[in-house]
Amino acid sequence: MAVIIEITQCTGCAACQAGCTFGAIEIDGGIAVITDKCICCGACVEECPVQAIRLENEDNLITPAKEKSPLEAYQGVWVFAELRHGAIMNIALELLGEGRKLADTLGVELGAVLIGDKVEPLAQDLFAYGADVVYLVEHAELENYRTESYCAAMEKLIKTYKPEILLIGATNIGRDLGPRLAGRVHTGLTSDCTVLDIDTEKRLLNQTRPAFGGNIMATIICPDTRPQMATVRPGVMKKATPDFNRTGKIVKAFYPPDVKVRTIVRNIVKEARKIVNLEEAQIIISGGRGVGGPEGFKLLEQVADSIGATVGASRGAVDSGWIPSNHQVGQTGKTVHPKLYIACGISGAIQHLAGMQHSSVIVAINKNPNAPIFKIADYGIVGDLFKVLPALLDTLKEINNGSDQCSAI
Ligand SMILES: Cc1cc2nc3c(=O)[nH]c(=O)nc-3n(C[C@H](O)[C@H](O)[C@H](O)COP(=O)(O)OP(=O)(O)OC[C@H]3O[C@@H](n4cnc5c(N)ncnc54)[C@H](O)[C@@H]3O)c2cc1C
Repeated sequence: MAVIIEITQCTGCAACQAGCTFGAIEIDGGIAVITDKCICCGACVEECPVQAIRLENEDNLITPAKEKSPLEAYQGVWVFAELRHGAIMNIALELLGEGRKLADTLGVELGAVLIGDKVEPLAQDLFAYGADVVYLVEHAELENYRTESYCAAMEKLIKTYKPEILLIGATNIGRDLGPRLAGRVHTGLTSDCTVLDIDTEKRLLNQTRPAFGGNIMATIICPDTRPQMATVRPGVMKKATPDFNRTGKIVKAFYPPDVKVRTIVRNIVKEARKIVNLEEAQIIISGGRGVGGPEGFKLLEQVADSIGATVGASRGAVDSGWIPSNHQVGQTGKTVHPKLYIACGISGAIQHLAGMQHSSVIVAINKNPNAPIFKIADYGIVGDLFKVLPALLDTLKEINNGSDQCSAI
């Protein structure tokens, strides 16, 4: 037996709190929350003027067939709204886009979990990108991400409001938070998913991710525990078009008072690297081992400047130390979908293709006619990139009446 509060119906009027002789009800963020002092006497059910409270298995008293399984007590799709330097990360908006579809398929609400210090104004953006409810935990201890404090806040939210599905970005923070949280709430987690959909018959989340070095796609389900948790690769899901007229409900929760946080953040250092926004780039020119060294990448940069492209790279080139890892495209790098992807001196290993195969047009330049990259290229040039790229630069200059900048692309 347990007391259930329907959060969508509860008005936070506190009539139940007044009627509870055990002091077992708190009003948290405008919603009644049952604490562990509850003995399930059911007095609050009578007190509630909007019938938002019920005893979990009261249906059971009428007909045993109607007993709700503990899994059914979990409802709603949640997205962890990751923040950096006080701003919502793109991955959170991508997850809201995907979460909206999943929530609509299941006919449930889409929730966003917003944790931080003085972050409430960001809730409006989360509503704009598709959230119906924002679960907000604000506290000075939550100003910066730390595993213990964020995990404690999330654990409390999950145990109180019971989501059916929880999506977290597979960022450094998400990869740290997800497994610890799944352990705390004793549920399953699939990491680094690239495809999500719902088995509508069983209401299960099909969580698909590359496995065995990208050679197979594994679809994993979590049938026996809730929430079904997945971390999702950044850059794979699509953000919804924001609607800044959308509004929603904010549910405020308290940060648990007894959390022991052993990590002290002394300083956050922003690495002074050139920003490489591969995920948003419309044109990418990428180099692989065939580029031969850092000098070769200077040639790629010249072409990139001329056509307004961003420079990408294979892991082969990154591992050789010719270009920083934030340029890497592929399974362990960025997933990109530009209008034009030019692969120069890249063989086309499956792990590279995993990150760029959905580009609208793929051009490959490679001196080996049997290189696998030609199998997915729309246009292929068999040749030495050190001859092809200078010829391309000359042609672009010609088209643009002698200018280095090409306006034709
Ligand atoms: C778990 C795992 C994850 C991985 N993740 C990634 C990832 O995210 N991204 C990634 O890219 N790889 C990844 N890899 C590595 C991947 O398997 C390949 O080793 C890598 O992509 C090869 O890089 P490359 O194509 O630059 O080099 P190579 O395979 O060595 O290919 C070089 C190509 O350049 C051509 N070439 C040489 N000289 C010239 C020239 N002058 N002009 C034109 N063409 C020339 C050659 O014909 C050849 O095809 C991963 C591997 C594993 C096991």
